[in-house]
Amino acid sequence: MKENTTDNIKVLVRVRPFDHRENNSNNQTTKCVFADEISNVIELKGKTNNAQGTFKFDFVRNEQSSQRAIFSTIGESVVEKFLEGFHGCVIAYGQTGAGKTYTMQGFGDAIENEGEDDAENNKSNDVGLIPRALRRIFEFTKNTASDDEDVTHEVTCAYLEIYNEQLTDLLSSGDGNGDCIAMDGMMVEDSGNNTGSIPSFGSFSGGELAIREDPKKGTFVENLTKVKVNSAEETYEAFLRGSARRRVGETEMNRNSSRSHSVFSVTLTSTTRGRTTKEKKRTLHLVDLAGSERQKATEATGARLKEASAINKSLSALGNVIKSLVDVANGRDRHVAFRDSKLTWLLKDALGGNAKCAVIACVSPALINADETASTLKFANRAK
Ligand code: ADP
Ligand code: MG
Repeated sequence: MKENTTDNIKVLVRVRPFDHRENNSNNQTTKCVFADEISNVIELKGKTNNAQGTFKFDFVRNEQSSQRAIFSTIGESVVEKFLEGFHGCVIAYGQTGAGKTYTMQGFGDAIENEGEDDAENNKSNDVGLIPRALRRIFEFTKNTASDDEDVTHEVTCAYLEIYNEQLTDLLSSGDGNGDCIAMDGMMVEDSGNNTGSIPSFGSFSGGELAIREDPKKGTFVENLTKVKVNSAEETYEAFLRGSARRRVGETEMNRNSSRSHSVFSVTLTSTTRGRTTKEKKRTLHLVDLAGSERQKATEATGARLKEASAINKSLSALGNVIKSLVDVANGRDRHVAFRDSKLTWLLKDALGGNAKCAVIACVSPALINADETASTLKFANRAK
């Protein structure tokens, strides 16, 4: 039988270490996940049949794995392809507390990563995949722009949240909370011809964002704020500002970021001037998904039930899309149901075609989480 693989989608399973809380309560530190980085196999030893088994992935990284190792193992290749001109995405999947945000953002607000990842340099050890990707992108734009005067690069970023199948613009300045965009770069709007003119702020306030498809532009979010950025630091600042706003939204609406998906998107437009002018435009989506844990039956009423079914809908749509893409890559004729959820529709161009996609499935090592870990491994297994 032909092996079910594609180079365009890679899956890494990362096991996080026990945290302080778990270490302090003796019945929570029983380990049930055993990761072999050489064979890329995970052995799960839960108590129930459902939570036992051996799973093989493209990459497996254990509790000692560094942020740098995660980036170089699975993030860097997506970024390099992006710099070459292809869309890409990096998606963190897993139950709440499994390490998605740690993997994508890191711990704290650091972007700098001076020196080596060693014990003395603890803070920079925690720098996550997003700041590492941003540093690489701007290293590229600076180098290639000066090597060849005929090439210029423009970078914009956008940040949105998907909650209950509704999109929220996390970088818009029209919500009246005073947290206006004050980037050095100007704002550019991407609906229409993308002339880079400064839009009226009023046009961003309130209204629901819609996904559109255009034969030339591909899939895009209408009226989503795009911020023009000139450095990795500036881009990361926009990311942190959007993330902070996400948290403000949470307390107001009495919800938790673990119940929404966040998509930070970086678009690089490279223009080569010669006899004819060529423009290469591609987007890299960096996605921190909602927690994949199943809602407890007793809690699943009213708003929580609505949330749970929205999360379930988009995560299973994502699983189905990835599975179909792997099938297509292996020569099977399959319909890919991108439009089954906002998430998959939004990511359409970055999942299909020649785009490169990395899925990082994050799991806890603890026996008490064995059932959720089993479900994460099964999800990740479909994509390998
Ligand atoms: P999630 O975003 O999936 O809900 P977090 O990334 O917030 O989970 O991780 C939960 C906690 O565990 C955080 O305190 C985080 O800093 C810590 N953590 C997660 N993964 C690691 C890791 N690989 N190494 C060290 N600490 C980690
Ligand atoms: Mg998180």
